[in-house]
Amino acid sequence: MAKDKQARLDALKAQIEADQPAPLLAAGATQMVFGAGDPDAAIVFIGEAPGKKEDLKGRPFIGAAGKFLSQMLSGIGLKRDDVYITNIVKYRPPNNRDPLPAEKAEFLPYLQQQLDIIEPKVIVTLGRHSTDSLLPGLMISQVHGQPQQANGRTYLPLFHPAAALYNGGLRQTLIDDFARLPIILDKISS
Ligand code: URA
Repeated sequence: MAKDKQARLDALKAQIEADQPAPLLAAGATQMVFGAGDPDAAIVFIGEAPGKKEDLKGRPFIGAAGKFLSQMLSGIGLKRDDVYITNIVKYRPPNNRDPLPAEKAEFLPYLQQQLDIIEPKVIVTLGRHSTDSLLPGLMISQVHGQPQQANGRTYLPLFHPAAALYNGGLRQTLIDDFARLPIILDKISS
């Protein structure tokens, strides 16, 4: 199963390379950061776009925000290899600027296909870009930590770990919201 899903994810990555969405982003980036982790994961985390370190290594969330994400995962007894981590936008925007609405829209159909392949039980949207793309109209400040149902999927919107690093007030809120993940998963499984 996981092998089959990995093959389909590899094919999707090749499709993005062939289609060249947001070609200006791709031209300025070192490489695509498609996603990493267990292709059969119960939880998928979706960030905004790769930063500098991610662009250089080709893996998502490996900088300061990623370290914080790993810490929160280990707080609920999980390793990065137990989950799948990706972003809406698959190439680093120049100088880490916010991804443009058109760029997010261009990558959204690929993200939807990625989720269709993995079929996670819970999709965690990290931050406002990810939340707004997958749950349009919802504001992260109002819905963080509260599971949402949309299009037959379960979502958990959380503050972005980078925002919590810069804004100490958000840090504990994110840790508390994150700790609800096992409870939400249990409920879905039972
Ligand atoms: N921030 C994101 O949103 N994604 C990454 O991959 C790294 C930092």
